[in-house]
Amino acid sequence: MERIKMTTPLVEMDGDEMTRILWADIKKILLEPYIQLETLYFDLGLPERERTKDQVTVDAAEATKKYGVAVKCATITPNAQRVEEYQLSQMWKSPNGTIRAILDGTVFRAPIMVKGISPVVKNWKRPITIARHAFGDVYKSTEYKVPGPGKAELVFTPAEGEAVRQTIYDFRGPGVLQGQFNTVASISSFARSCFQFALDSRQDLWFATKDTISKQYDHTFKDIFQEIYDTEYAARFQEAGIEYFYTLIDDAVARVIRSEGGFIWACKNYDGDVMSDMVSTAFGSLAMMTSVLVSPDGNYEYEAAHGTVTRHYYKYLKGEETSTNPIATIFAWTGALRKRGELDGIPALEEFSGKLEAACLAVIEGGSMTKDLAGLWEGEVPAVTLNSRQFLEAIRDELEKRL
Ligand code: NAP
Ligand code: MG
Repeated sequence: MERIKMTTPLVEMDGDEMTRILWADIKKILLEPYIQLETLYFDLGLPERERTKDQVTVDAAEATKKYGVAVKCATITPNAQRVEEYQLSQMWKSPNGTIRAILDGTVFRAPIMVKGISPVVKNWKRPITIARHAFGDVYKSTEYKVPGPGKAELVFTPAEGEAVRQTIYDFRGPGVLQGQFNTVASISSFARSCFQFALDSRQDLWFATKDTISKQYDHTFKDIFQEIYDTEYAARFQEAGIEYFYTLIDDAVARVIRSEGGFIWACKNYDGDVMSDMVSTAFGSLAMMTSVLVSPDGNYEYEAAHGTVTRHYYKYLKGEETSTNPIATIFAWTGALRKRGELDGIPALEEFSGKLEAACLAVIEGGSMTKDLAGLWEGEVPAVTLNSRQFLEAIRDELEKRL
């Protein structure tokens, strides 16, 4: 069989620990035999980030801007313990944070559903994709512990002109205080990423805030979304047969639970943080989630939603058998390859991605899976637990039947 040729390279970002092991195996077993893989390789593993003073992360993000599509392995975000373990000269920042800051995007996360593992919410028939605004609000807030009686004020000093003052509260005793912000530029690019992703994936878009209470702050989010929708997207949504729907956050959570799924839920930063954990848990597991960063100017970075699975890696280093789920990492590759195929007009690449994804689901639905899924399995046949390697080989066998 002739291998599929690519015309533009994918930006490939390698990572750490167990997912780095899976990364190499996925390429060797599931991709390279069928595709003449063209990638620009960046090693985002912690030792290389240390060696290059994290320049490699910046270079990888810049390459993504240039080439448009990247695929990323999970990476360690260093903490004090990692600084010691890897003898780091600095506590390097989260690569995802660095990449997001350069690409200015929104992260979309969706569960991968299989028959035999059912969502906790019985009426959810299709995936719910969460789009989280990843800038500002409480994550960039300034906080203050009020020691005792006094007046708290909100003061804005414009670059030109008089300062504006408002009383927040007259404290009669101790308390707490918080100042948060967002920007029209960031909210607008969040809105555009969401509308664009809805069009790309042909799904309705829901957005919700607490605008009835927060008449300036949250209302601004609502207004920006509406204005951008009306002026730039309404016609295209109509053409695609999809809808933009705004409601109050309280109403949204109730509707989400009663829904059948199959839409994108755009969330403010905090809502997205909390709701994505709830939705992913209710659907099954982080190892069964796709995750893609979409920038407003149309760059895509595909990754797994979970981390480097450290606990399994230490077992692997001791020579013990591991049963780590590779599905989210495989789907990062298929997402990126499909997008590359779409952009470059290579239908064979899109077709291959679809077949590989279908092979993954078929193996699980046939009762063979990794240990994490065996615990959730409700299928008719008893689950067969495979180690990571056996599981990848089972997927390859299934894929070959389809090619
Ligand atoms: P984690 O790697 O997601 O793993 C937490 C636990 O979840 C694992 O111990 C395992 O449970 C289960 N799990 C996660 N993914 C799995 C998979 N594919 N297959 C089977 N089980 C899976 O989170 P962590 O241990 O908190 O973080 C480890 C490192 O990852 C940290 O250094 C962190 O900075 C980094 N991280 C990176 C990203 C990213 O690059 N996107 C995201 C999050 C965390 P059992 O042990 O019970 O089997
Ligand atoms: Mg969270």
